[in-house]
Amino acid sequence: MAADAQLTDVVVIGGGVTGCAVARDAALRGLSVTLVEQGDLGAGTSGRFHGMLQSGARYVTTDVGYAAQCMRERRTFERIAAQAMDATGGLFVVLGSDPPGFEEVFERGCAEADIPTRRLSSEEVAAREPRVRGVVAAFEVPDAVFRPWSVVVALAEDAHTRGAAIRLHARVTRIDADGERCAVVVQRRDGSVDVLRARTVTIAAGPWAPSLVPTGGATPSMQLAKGSMLVLPERLVGAVVNRCRPPGGFDILVPFGATTIFGTTSLDVDDPTTRSVQPDEERDLRDGARALLGRDALDAYGGLTTYAGVRPLVVSATDTDGAVSRRHLAFEHPGLPVITIVGGSFTTHRAMAEDVVDRVCRRLGVDVACTTAQTPLPRSSGAFAWSRDAFFQPAAGAPWAS
Ligand SMILES: Cc1cc2nc3c(=O)[nH]c(=O)nc-3n(C[C@H](O)[C@H](O)[C@H](O)COP(=O)(O)OP(=O)(O)OC[C@H]3O[C@@H](n4cnc5c(N)ncnc54)[C@H](O)[C@@H]3O)c2cc1C
Repeated sequence: MAADAQLTDVVVIGGGVTGCAVARDAALRGLSVTLVEQGDLGAGTSGRFHGMLQSGARYVTTDVGYAAQCMRERRTFERIAAQAMDATGGLFVVLGSDPPGFEEVFERGCAEADIPTRRLSSEEVAAREPRVRGVVAAFEVPDAVFRPWSVVVALAEDAHTRGAAIRLHARVTRIDADGERCAVVVQRRDGSVDVLRARTVTIAAGPWAPSLVPTGGATPSMQLAKGSMLVLPERLVGAVVNRCRPPGGFDILVPFGATTIFGTTSLDVDDPTTRSVQPDEERDLRDGARALLGRDALDAYGGLTTYAGVRPLVVSATDTDGAVSRRHLAFEHPGLPVITIVGGSFTTHRAMAEDVVDRVCRRLGVDVACTTAQTPLPRSSGAFAWSRDAFFQPAAGAPWAS
């Protein structure tokens, strides 16, 4: 698309699932793309989350529109990238100690969001999930589990195959923009500096996004919420097991490879690099896991691994106290060819990218429809994911390859 080979149609900042999906979508539409990531692919929140490909059932009582979007994206992902997920199914379990009345609201919400559910008896749950204790009723839903690394790397590799340049271990230190053009200042690990010239910039930097907004530009209102998780060193459940109660913390067991991940906490932070899990968070996580697995369930393991990630949430005027929306925001900076994409989830990455690239195309006067919902995502080879100081030029044959 770019006539001037030095001028890229879109520079994407951030090599998490969102940035990689944006780069792939833009490359599929024939735009010239450079993706810049300060670390490795998936080194931000996309490498430190809970791993669920969500049916949306978790959100039916707080945001049925978002829940329905999750279900649509879950169906799409299975169609285009089944190799990068485990179709474990999910259960929403009611424990004897849970307050009554939520089941009906939950079932109605799922119907409204077009999420298929099936009621299970406590005996059926006991047969399927013998490690989960005290269940009096349950619903089956189509939750699943991502293979997150495969997803992020596959998106980047496919973007690269389709002509995108991928720069890892290169940090954007400044964006200078006027109404028409951007200059993106990039610092490599050796300290050397390059300036990329672009028609548009997409900031897909997750919880780092506010620090990248060009000077004087408006900023989307964000909340950075750290979530901590506990890794149990056995696959204790076959399906994703959620508590059937209003969404809060400490309520999901995710079978992940040979382990089970329990989470999460939620704690507001200022620093997107926050990684530490406090002793009281770990204690609360252990207590939460015991509520599902029984009082003695964790004793055999001794010390357990914990990890944390930071949610890049968007604060909107319609949020009610304690329930910040999971919807995404594609924020077009007034007067600048810059879009910031934040919020959303790993589950909705494809739809987030479609929204952004539609806007980029409008700005560039390009009329090419999004095809990512139909285009299979090839299996990743992982070939370039771990290269240090890597600069992957567009593949030979791409229209703008030098
Ligand atoms: C505890 C927790 C549990 C979650 N559970 C789920 C779940 O089960 N299912 C689900 O669907 N979602 C879940 N999420 C949400 C999901 O993980 C995030 O929405 C998603 O990973 C965000 O991806 P991203 O690409 O927008 O951000 P990130 O993955 O953070 O990517 C941003 C990238 O930008 C890079 N960057 C930042 N600054 C610069 C710079 N100056 N120059 C170059 N690069 C830069 C960073 O290094 C980073 O790699 C969870 C999140 C958390 C925290």
